[in-house]
Amino acid sequence: MYFCGPTVYARAHIGNARPFVLGMWLRSWLRLTGYEAILVHNITDINDKIYDAAPGASAALAADATRWYLEDTGDLGLGMPDHLPKATETVPEIVAFIGELIETGHAYESGGDVYFRVASFPEYGRLSGQRPDQVEAQEEPSPLKEDPRDFALWKANKPATEDTWWDSPWGRGRPGWHIECSVMAELLLGPAFEIHGGGLDLVFPHHENEVAQSRSVGRPFARIWMHNGMLRSTGDDMHKSIGNIETIREALERWGREPLLVFFLSGHWRKPIDYSDDTVRQAAAQWSSFQDAYRVPEATPDGNEWSRFAAALDDDFNTPEALALLHEWRSRGYWDLLDRGLAVFGLGLGERPLADDDIDRLRQERDEARDRKDWQRADELREAIRGRGFDVVDEPAGSRLVRL
Ligand SMILES: [Zn+2]
Repeated sequence: MYFCGPTVYARAHIGNARPFVLGMWLRSWLRLTGYEAILVHNITDINDKIYDAAPGASAALAADATRWYLEDTGDLGLGMPDHLPKATETVPEIVAFIGELIETGHAYESGGDVYFRVASFPEYGRLSGQRPDQVEAQEEPSPLKEDPRDFALWKANKPATEDTWWDSPWGRGRPGWHIECSVMAELLLGPAFEIHGGGLDLVFPHHENEVAQSRSVGRPFARIWMHNGMLRSTGDDMHKSIGNIETIREALERWGREPLLVFFLSGHWRKPIDYSDDTVRQAAAQWSSFQDAYRVPEATPDGNEWSRFAAALDDDFNTPEALALLHEWRSRGYWDLLDRGLAVFGLGLGERPLADDDIDRLRQERDEARDRKDWQRADELREAIRGRGFDVVDEPAGSRLVRL
């Protein structure tokens, strides 16, 4: 799987967490069901936004913002993708790929830039549902282009505003954004791979251009596209300081990771999801109810409950349905199943409360340790008993438990 990653120029918005979380959960589920899943998530550390945000110090900002992204997504507690390739570390491979596109007539050099020749790829527009002759023009108009639909693969260095550059057969410059994903996906996953993810806002032009670059030179590229719905900020109560947009870091500090994960579970990945104090508060309340799961006496399920959970996730990764089932298990006291289901999403019930019988077993073990004069083990067991709210009193007739 290849899930497009962030452009690193500031702390990432909570909306950027959605494709990350989806990719990590999907990997977790696919592995559990027996697939050898590998997730690649790229870091776009060459981009106009970075030059604009830190004139004269873009590389330092990109390095800082990469570190922030890894810290912030790391604190979601889902682990990390298998590969996190950076554009700055892939420039030679990008230059080679652009060279192949020029040789095969799919790209042309013009004034130190290199552009993809959209007219050379008849399938162009198919991914985003546009007719090739009616595809909207790419964002940057330029007299250097043969056709307004053409897009840059390589951009000549602009010394006044761009403080990083790389050498290439077309002169000093830097790669465009789209080409980096075609190259990194192939480098790490081969010419064909299963799933390509990213936000719905990336379908055009980013993913349309990735397809054009890779397929025009015979690579099958992604078999399945998985575009997640966007996160919508609603309500007036969002933080105003950063223009009604909350960062992953701020969201983690305000809510903690578990309520945020339950929030993401509550929406189907294809659909937009409303992010507000109200909706995250509801998710936090759901999380509290899971934390109270042990208050419901433990029960044994009859029938194959896990298959219901698997059916929900195997059907287009329907997490809202899986979440509803987790609540059902919680209300019925299916502790083991619930813990196992939550673990797919990086959540869990934590340590089980010990029944009185279990504490008494610890007392007996301590007696046995004392009998064989293993004082260290006896002390450890006493600490374990104290940790459960009891203490041991040694009397001539034997030991007994007292509440602390
Ligand atoms: Zn991409």
